[in-house]
Amino acid sequence: MKIGLAGLLALAVSIPSLAATPWQRITQPVAGVPQAVGSYANGCQIGAKPLPIDSPDYQVMRTDQRRFYGQPDLLTFIKRLSAEANREDLGTVLIGDMAMPAGGRFSSGHASHQSGLDVDIWLQMPRKRWTAQQLLKPQPIDLVSRDGKSVVKSQWQPQIETLIKLAAQDTDVVRIFVNPAIKQQLCLDAGSDREWLHKVRPWFGHRAHMHVRLRCPVGDHNCESQAPPPPGDGCGAELQSWFLPPKPGSGVPVKKEPPPLPAVCQSLLDNHVGQL
Ligand SMILES: [Zn+2]
Repeated sequence: MKIGLAGLLALAVSIPSLAATPWQRITQPVAGVPQAVGSYANGCQIGAKPLPIDSPDYQVMRTDQRRFYGQPDLLTFIKRLSAEANREDLGTVLIGDMAMPAGGRFSSGHASHQSGLDVDIWLQMPRKRWTAQQLLKPQPIDLVSRDGKSVVKSQWQPQIETLIKLAAQDTDVVRIFVNPAIKQQLCLDAGSDREWLHKVRPWFGHRAHMHVRLRCPVGDHNCESQAPPPPGDGCGAELQSWFLPPKPGSGVPVKKEPPPLPAVCQSLLDNHVGQL
């Protein structure tokens, strides 16, 4: 079986590193006026709130990981999207990683989710609510074919497109990351209403979930914004480049040392965890 570059990279970035980070030792939110500090991939958060676990509209997975904290805007967004999904009878929305109580870097997986403005939402919406056991050990559904070029038709449901579209149409959302094959399917099915596709960005992995990112909260001066996605629906040459064979010399990216923390985050860490 041949795995494309995107597949290889997806494998490479999904291998967990077992080294714990000091952020995991902070088990309660840091008191203060809510702030998302730094960037999505190098930051922390103050005044975070836990997403309420009990909701008729969504269910929270892997609560033992304590990654269900976020800025108030993120909690409001999740409740708003899930309520809309319920009104549209899409099924239960499954909530994965948000951020840790004080944000910061996870021990494994993605580098983002650090400032309380990112959430992983799974692209399956069960009709029947999951049991506590299912929520602790959730089984993802891989929506992408083995060659990475298309979605698996037998798993692809119209509700998935509706959920992604609802999220993309939310004014607080600035980016949604999905696998290139998923973006391609959305491009094929969108018809004439294409404006929302602009925010949906192809990225490695993301075969069973979408990663939703919110704008910096209004008045949050320590939050670093990201440049908006390029104009257009993103269904043309840029998307197609993900399906081309890798250029000679390109390969699995070398793991880089994380950049220095923003000063606010460093002092927060020093105060709460001490020098490690
Ligand atoms: Zn994510």
